[in-house]
Amino acid sequence: MALRFHNTLTRSVQDFVPLDPAGKKVGLYCCGPTVYDFAHIGNWRTFVFADLVRRTLEFSGYDVRHVMNITDVEDKIIKRVREAKTTLRDFTGQYETAFFDDLKALGCRLPHVTPRATEHIPEMLDLIAKLLERGVAYKAADGSVYFSIEKYRGCGCTYGQLVKLNYDEMRAGRRVTSDEYDKESLADFALWKARVLEDGEVFWASPWGEGRPGWHIECSAMSMKALGRTFDLHLGGEDLAFPHHEDEIAQSEGATGQPFVKYWMHGAHLMVEGKKMSKSLGNFFTLRDLLAKGYSGREVRYLLLTAHYRETFNFTLEGLTGAKTALARIDECVGKLRELGAQGSSPPGSASSDFLARFSNALSDDLNISAAWAAVFDWVRDTNKRLADTALTAADAASALAAWEKVDSVLGIGSKAEAEAPGEIQALAEERTAAKKAKDFKRADAIREELKAKGWAIEDTPKGPKLKKV
Ligand code: AMP
Ligand code: ZN
Repeated sequence: MALRFHNTLTRSVQDFVPLDPAGKKVGLYCCGPTVYDFAHIGNWRTFVFADLVRRTLEFSGYDVRHVMNITDVEDKIIKRVREAKTTLRDFTGQYETAFFDDLKALGCRLPHVTPRATEHIPEMLDLIAKLLERGVAYKAADGSVYFSIEKYRGCGCTYGQLVKLNYDEMRAGRRVTSDEYDKESLADFALWKARVLEDGEVFWASPWGEGRPGWHIECSAMSMKALGRTFDLHLGGEDLAFPHHEDEIAQSEGATGQPFVKYWMHGAHLMVEGKKMSKSLGNFFTLRDLLAKGYSGREVRYLLLTAHYRETFNFTLEGLTGAKTALARIDECVGKLRELGAQGSSPPGSASSDFLARFSNALSDDLNISAAWAAVFDWVRDTNKRLADTALTAADAASALAAWEKVDSVLGIGSKAEAEAPGEIQALAEERTAAKKAKDFKRADAIREELKAKGWAIEDTPKGPKLKKV
């Protein structure tokens, strides 16, 4: 089944056909984090969604070049740098490091290119110069440069490709210098912002005087540098469709005269306990907050991956507890298959089971993740039954495992690393074995309780006692 995605540009689900004539290479750009704080789980929903798109493309055999920028200069950052009385690099560096740590904890594949905005100022200046040359940008009295929507439309270009715009409601001539995407009005936007006192030492030289780039131009410059003037896929959260992405299209197509992106995909927002996530409501979580509460990165990833990307998702802590249970079911089944499969080998090609086909068809259908998880849990149930009935041979188990590994190359939940029991725990387990041998069952039971209190369960298997973290 051909891969199909919802394209915001056409407002429909379309077959995915890459620009590459060989049908192999795919360029994927997702707007990255603004590194002025730790990314919250809403941001993570979007980045995990981008990871799912990339993994699905790779699963389907495409050779993906995944680019995600780091926005390390914009209004909010400058304000925080000023408040923290530090330098831009020192300030953003700490959150950038935290971002990559979290990305790993959530099992996301590292994008191939992660450009920093501050390292692409020359590319941004080039783009702005081109827009001025083409007459769709103008310099204001203070040295700022603005994009003129009117001139751009006058050239026969469309402003409002992703969203329907009502031009009568546009406040003509009102320019907005703010980068805050939820506050920008439907009007000309800044490409270059002339230096002001509050910017402190955050400025660069330009043909129009000292200043800094506007947020939108950063993404146009970095995406086109890494992927070319026209590329396949551009992703982001739904809040970015307007004006950020609309402005990216206008700047890029205004400068190159060529189509910018073939497929635009937008992920819906994450709510927390039924409400918009906000610091004042106390329902604002970073990944770190959740790890500190004892949840794991893979549990968070699992939960974020349970909802379809175009549906608003309500995040709850109970949901995370449910994620723990669901993952334990998968882990147990896969663990048993590993034990059995270790005695056999999977004949080549045997992994292409019905399970794999069902999973793959679900994802191809605009990432129908609910149907994909249903395939996983039906497979777990069926496999458990066959294991209980001893209806699986070692070769069957190895083949089932090969299918699971393919499926997990998309889901990315991995297997729970067999927690290595610390020495003290192992010593207790050995003491219990000795007590049992000596028929001191009272002592053996007491040790079992002691282990339980320390968070370990002991299971007697034909291969001897096995420790399990609970
Ligand atoms: P930012 O760091 O603010 O530039 O945002 C990074 C990404 O997170 C963008 O793609 C946003 O659209 C996305 N985002 C922000 N808030 C949420 C949310 N509550 N749910 C899902 N995505 C979000
Ligand atoms: Zn962007």
